[in-house]
Amino acid sequence: AAAKKAPARSPQYLTFEDIGGQEQAKRELTEALEFLVQRDKLSKLGIRPLKGILLTGPPGTGKTLLAKAAAQHTNSVFAAASGSEFVEMYVGVGAGRIRDLFQQARRQAIKEKKDCAIIFIDEIDGIGGKRDGGQHREYDQTLNQLLTEMDGIQGDEHPRVLLIAATNRKELLDSALLRPGRFDRHIQVDLPDKTGREHILELHARNKPLAEDVSLAKIADETFGFSGAQLESVMNEAAIYAMREENETISAANLAQAIDKVMMGERMDRETTR
Ligand code: ATP
Repeated sequence: AAAKKAPARSPQYLTFEDIGGQEQAKRELTEALEFLVQRDKLSKLGIRPLKGILLTGPPGTGKTLLAKAAAQHTNSVFAAASGSEFVEMYVGVGAGRIRDLFQQARRQAIKEKKDCAIIFIDEIDGIGGKRDGGQHREYDQTLNQLLTEMDGIQGDEHPRVLLIAATNRKELLDSALLRPGRFDRHIQVDLPDKTGREHILELHARNKPLAEDVSLAKIADETFGFSGAQLESVMNEAAIYAMREENETISAANLAQAIDKVMMGERMDRETTR
């Protein structure tokens, strides 16, 4: 198990191969990306451009990683924002920020001589949650600006622009965002199954010396319900336990302690948010 492993690569070059499990999401995403890559061809046939892809699923399952890998896969520039940034902004500020995000992504693509720009908005429900009768002017303006930007995406423009958004709560999204011509593709990004967990553990063990008694398959078995982010945490915590014990390798016992710790942390989070 402690055999030589490939060194971990820089996160700037994140590819689909650096994402564990999520085979179906990866497949659906690469298929959808063909609409961006081949947009000129599609536009000649009168097919309307795919403007948005919505990634839905629990926290820490790799939605951000998928968006980054999508940019790498299509040789696009990557510009990101989080919906949570827009909460409690003054009137007009959120809308301006959205406008800048699209404008800067286009400019950067031109500067870097890239054909496409992928804009990623995490926690899109922070901007595009259901409207509640016009009580939040600021909020409405931000969402309206986002809709305007999406409507402004053209099939034959250069650079080509694609919006990828992520949410844990699709049911909260304003129906305006879900209308045809906006987020035309929805991709579910679920918690990993056993094979997925093992794959994720392997990826996060790439730069870690494991003791001979460690079986990642066994750990994958014991971590039912863990997200990718939690599995990353398990590997990292286990390495910290190994360091405290002055071990040169990470033992099965270190990993067991780390699983307990991550599980415990999860339980405490749930209790404090209740
Ligand atoms: P959120 O909804 O909280 O924004 P997310 O789905 O966007 O979460 P990411 O930010 O992509 O989750 O993942 C967080 C971290 O968890 C990653 O940086 C990575 O270390 C790890 N991780 C999550 N999923 C995977 C995966 N499928 N393969 C490898 N690592 C993963």
